[in-house]
Order: sequence, then C-alpha cells, then structure tokens
Amino acid sequence: MSNKQKAIIVGAGAGGLSAAVRLAHQGWDVTVLEKEPAPGGRLGAIEEQGYTIDIGPTIMMMDDVFRQFFQEIGRNIEDYLELIRLNPLYRLNYHDGTVLALPSDMKALLDEIKRVNPDDVDGYLKFLSQIHTRYVAAREKFIEKPLNKLEEFLTIDTLTGMYQLKTLNNMYSDISRFIKDERLRIALTFQSIYLGISPFDAPSIYTIIAYVEHGVSGVWYPKGGMNAIGKALVKLLREFGGSLRVNSEVKEILIESGMARGVRLTTGEELYADVVISNVDFPTSMEKLIPAASRGKYTPQKLESMTNSCGALMFYLGTNRRYDHLDVHNIYFTRDYKETLDQIFEQGQLPDDPAIYLYAPTRIDPSVAPEDKEVVYVLVPVPNLSSDIDWKTALPQFREKVMEKLEKAGLTDLRQHIEFERIYTPHTFQERFHLYQGAAFGLAPTLLQSGYFRPHISSENVKNLYFVGASVHPGGGVPVVITCGKLAANLILKDHHSDTISWPNPEMAG
Ligand SMILES: Cc1cc2nc3c(=O)[nH]c(=O)nc-3n(C[C@H](O)[C@H](O)[C@H](O)COP(=O)(O)OP(=O)(O)OC[C@H]3O[C@@H](n4cnc5c(N)ncnc54)[C@H](O)[C@@H]3O)c2cc1C
Repeated sequence: MSNKQKAIIVGAGAGGLSAAVRLAHQGWDVTVLEKEPAPGGRLGAIEEQGYTIDIGPTIMMMDDVFRQFFQEIGRNIEDYLELIRLNPLYRLNYHDGTVLALPSDMKALLDEIKRVNPDDVDGYLKFLSQIHTRYVAAREKFIEKPLNKLEEFLTIDTLTGMYQLKTLNNMYSDISRFIKDERLRIALTFQSIYLGISPFDAPSIYTIIAYVEHGVSGVWYPKGGMNAIGKALVKLLREFGGSLRVNSEVKEILIESGMARGVRLTTGEELYADVVISNVDFPTSMEKLIPAASRGKYTPQKLESMTNSCGALMFYLGTNRRYDHLDVHNIYFTRDYKETLDQIFEQGQLPDDPAIYLYAPTRIDPSVAPEDKEVVYVLVPVPNLSSDIDWKTALPQFREKVMEKLEKAGLTDLRQHIEFERIYTPHTFQERFHLYQGAAFGLAPTLLQSGYFRPHISSENVKNLYFVGASVHPGGGVPVVITCGKLAANLILKDHHSDTISWPNPEMAG
C-alpha cells in the first residue's frame, strides 16, 4: 500500500485543478472528483457539432501567473498552450456610435484616447502614474498571501498595503477624478463586471484591472479557447500521477471529531484522505456538503446575507456565416451606463437596454468552428437568482431584445444564421456547477468580502479541510483562482510538514 499522503479534491474547476496539480507534483496521492462528465467547471467548453465554445472565461490576463505556475512545476507553458497576444485588446461600441478599439501598444493607445477626447490624455497618464503602486501592493500584500489569520492581516506590511490600495471610494468615482469624458470613464471601469459587481459599488482598487490590460500584461488568447487552460491542467495532473474521476458527485464531506476524513458520493461510496479540498462554490459547500455542526459562522442566515455577484445570461451560438467586422472581444454599451447597472444590481430586474459582451474567437482561431462558420458567444449581465425574475416567461422576449440589438450593431440577420444555440440562465449555472444563487462570478468582492474578510482557504472549524475557488480569498477570475489553488497547496504542505521539496522539483518534474 502506498504511504503517500492523500488528498481528495471535490470539483475540477480552475482552483481545484490548480491545487491538485501542485500537490500531485509534490508527490501526494491526489484524486479529483467532478460531478459533470467533463472537467473545467466554468473554465470548460461546449463541444458539439464541430464548435468549441468556452463556457465562462474568455479574457486571459496576468499571463505571468500562468507562466510562473508552469515554471514552478518544472514545465514549459509553450509545451501545453499556444498563447497569442491580442491587438486590439477589445472593441468598445458606444450608444452614440463611438467605437474605441483599444490597441495593446501604449503609444497607439494614447493616440486612441486622444482621438476620443484630447483633454483626457493628461488625466489618463496621471491615472497610470498612481495605479502602479496600488497594483504592486494588491498583488504582493493581498492576492499572493493566504490571509487566513487575523495576525497575518494585522501586520504593518498588510496595513501599509491597505493604505497604499486607497480603496475606500468606488471605481467609477475614483476614475472620475482623472477622466472627464463619460466614454473613457466607462472604458476604464466596465471591467468590474468581470467580477460580477457594479463599478458604482466595486472598491476603487479594481481599476487595476484596466491597468493590467493596458499596461501590464495585455490580453491573451490560448489557442482552442480558455478551456485549453483547463485541459492543460488535467494533462499536468495525470503526468504527475493524480487521477480525475468525472460523473462523481460528492454528497457530503465526512467530518469526525472536528477533522475532515473523506467524502461520501451520491452513490454511497466513501473515500478517505488526509485532506479534503472543496472547490465547490464556498456558500454551496457550506450549505450542502458540510454538516451543520461544522459550519461555524456560515449559517444559512449568514450565507443569505452575503452579497453575491450578478448572474450571466449566455447565448452560445454557432453561425453558418462569418461576421468579419468583429474583433475577438466586443462590448456593446447602453444609452445610460448607470441606469443599466442599477437595474441589474439595485432593482434586480432585466435591463431595458442590455449591455452585451460578444466573443468571436474564430477571428483568430478557425479551429473552434467548422469551416466558414463562426462562434458567437454572447454574455449579458443579469441579476442572480435572489431576484424574482421568472426566467421561463422572461427569456423568449429578452432573447429577441438581445438579438435585435446585435443585428442593429452589424450582425446582419443573425437570427437567420444561427445553426447551433445553447442558452444558460443563472438557473443553469446553479444546477450544473452548483453556484450559489446562480451568481456567475461567486461572492461579490465588496470591501467587506475581500482579503481577510473573504472566506478563508483553511477551514476555520475543521482540521484538514480547505476551500479553493472564486468565492474564497483571493477572489475570482482564472489567474486569481489559480493563485488560490497554489496558496492552498502551500498551506497543506506546511500544515502536513511536507514542504521540504522545493519548487521547481527537477526530479519529479521530468
Ligand atoms: C460567464 C463567465 C465569464 C467569465 N469570464 C472570465 C474571463 O473572461 N476571465 C477570467 O479570468 N475569469 C472569468 N470568469 C470567472 C472564472 O470563470 C472563475 O473565476 C473561475 O473559473 C472559477 O473557478 P473555480 O475554481 O471557482 O471553479 P468552478 O468553475 O466553480 O468549478 C467548480 C467545479 O466543481 C464541480 N462541482 C460542484 N459541486 C460538486 C459536487 N458536489 N461534487 C463534485 N463536483 C462538484 C462543478 O461541476 C465544477 O466543475 C467568468 C465566469 C463566467 C461564469
């Protein structure tokens, strides 16, 4: 019998796979259990009729996180992923007809800003000059630290970092200090929607996302789509001897005397391990997988009171023609930015004028669609399931509204050219991936749900139990969740006194 330490990971999302790969690389006996027939979770794909359509993530930024992940396990990222840097980053389409295609080159980007509003060039440069310090503080003092314990949080270093973040106002008002033109304010704040929060509520530190896209990493595309990252993680897991079981839904995490012992599947099968990591959305883990006596402060009332991100209404389309005017990433704003956001986030209703994000990867990657055809991925931010929208009744009419807007925006006769269509509402995200309230991006990163105040990686009540994923510190978005998996693996190695193998470990990395 093997005397390796054993880890069971519930869920093969980005966070679960990241932790699994790191532990398998360290010689642990790792089993990942995934309820769906395919791994990846939100980072997966719909693969049907010759189309490969990413389910969730499409925008790859912070490429250094991915490169470092591979490097630390002794692998070369280029052997697993073909990464393409995008130029332009994305095409922004405004209601007044302005089109802003933001170039990846800083000089050209400044020219583009000047073209829209010459008076804002100075303000933009001022924005850049102060955001760098905040970005470095966010990365080093928050994202890359587990912040599990109050004493870790209340250090001079972290408190100085908090001061450097200067995060008490919201993104929109922070950007408005530098930028006067509404179109440019929108261009520098819409990124909060990547985290499922309104820029009028998001802490101002999230303006670092625009900075990361414009000035730090740019925006990347992995050939085959973002799901290629999930596939690469599964490949790495297998190379390091870990195993993945699909169609294996966990019903309960087994806890005895305050210690995680293993899991029970819906089939009744029980598996035992030294540690259990739940990659299931944190509130769902608490609500469904952990017995009430071991939930600590996360009672049903507490979970109910937490702020969740918005939902996403998704149209995954395959069209029998191409729309050559599209870029890879296209955004269609609305006639009133704030009104649309308020309808979603404050009033919990479907917006009168939907904001639309459209992803057309076929533009640079013909491998994702049959010849001469196109993948059209359409994401519309909508309220999560805490609102009382009756999706069965509302969907047909709302779909027409979205299609009409796209047809007017140049996707001529779109409805006639759709030959493949799948629709995901917040109900689908809840049912398929067990996302609490169908919130597409997990717990919202409000100030009081960030850093030490976000659910921790190490369970506060149960020994040998850990959590990874978008609703756990450091938060959502694939690079951040990959970092979460790495932090979890480091904590486990430390807690189990097996942190003796340094990364990269040439012996195991092959
Ligand atoms: C529409 C959309 C667009 C997005 N766009 C971007 C983007 O452009 N860029 C970006 O970086 N991020 C983006 N994100 C966010 C990103 O997808 C997430 O932050 C990240 O993928 C979450 O990973 P996770 O580890 O939390 O796992 P999840 O994806 O939540 O995976 C959890 C896994 O656990 C499985 N599971 C659940 N319950 C059980 C159970 N009981 N037993 C076994 N398995 C179970 C699920 O099936 C799932 O596979 C987007 C998300 C969405 C939804």
